Amino acid sequence: MMAKRLPTILPDLSFKEALEITKIYSVAGELKKDSGIIMNRPFRNPHHSITASSIIGGGKIPKPGEISLAHLGVLFLDELPEFNKKILELLREPLEDKTVTISRLNCSLTYPCNFMFVASMNPCPCGYYGMIEKQCTCSELAIKNYLGKISGPLLDRIDIHIEVKPVKYENLNNKNPEETSEVIRKRVNNARKIQQKRYENLKVYSNAELMPKLIEKYCKLDDESKKILNVAFEKLGLSARAYTKVLKVARTIADLEGKTNIEKEHIIEAIGYRSLDKKYGEKF
Ligand SMILES: [Zn+2]
Repeated sequence: MMAKRLPTILPDLSFKEALEITKIYSVAGELKKDSGIIMNRPFRNPHHSITASSIIGGGKIPKPGEISLAHLGVLFLDELPEFNKKILELLREPLEDKTVTISRLNCSLTYPCNFMFVASMNPCPCGYYGMIEKQCTCSELAIKNYLGKISGPLLDRIDIHIEVKPVKYENLNNKNPEETSEVIRKRVNNARKIQQKRYENLKVYSNAELMPKLIEKYCKLDDESKKILNVAFEKLGLSARAYTKVLKVARTIADLEGKTNIEKEHIIEAIGYRSLDKKYGEKF
């Protein structure tokens, strides 16, 4: 449910971005007649039975796949372990490069694929592992095989991991008013504006695109935050990639609050989003 509502809080499209998306849909033959320019960020959620060429792109004259159709939008894979492991591994390079090159005998084509990757999964095949209310019926081997479908390197490329506990019945009727998507979207747009101004002339549009040198410059920490991050790094066994992801996520949390500097609270929150590193690291 959360993933499907994500498009309602994504930042507005610039005209340049809208053109890029429209071009891809046109090449893919997915543009309806008279539909004009696409003005919304795409949300793609292919089924787990999808083939490699449908997700990456392919065919005799290579057409864009789901990763390119999700360019500047969201690619959502529900029930991640149900996908073919080989297909999941194919996502690693495009996630890193934000482009994909499809080579054929007589041609080689490169398509953009700068998408937000969102995935969901259960803790085990039956879905009840680690829950107090219900007993998990899976064998240890079944859980290991299930989680083993998600490789460490793929998990490492995901910025934010969140464990969602089941909602209790009494909370379903919670009458407390929640923030609307419109309010959240305003905050997101503001954070984007802050980033665009900060990275003017750098060919970087968001914190996610920061390279190591720029991370050093724009994600500075005070001594206390540095200490906290170092302890977490050891305890969670974070990779170098995860380390920079924590810094970038903390920068974004600070931007959403309109803060100039990354503060202790921001770094603690960002570390909290790496909880699966340790959990899944142990299971492999
Ligand atoms: Zn289970």
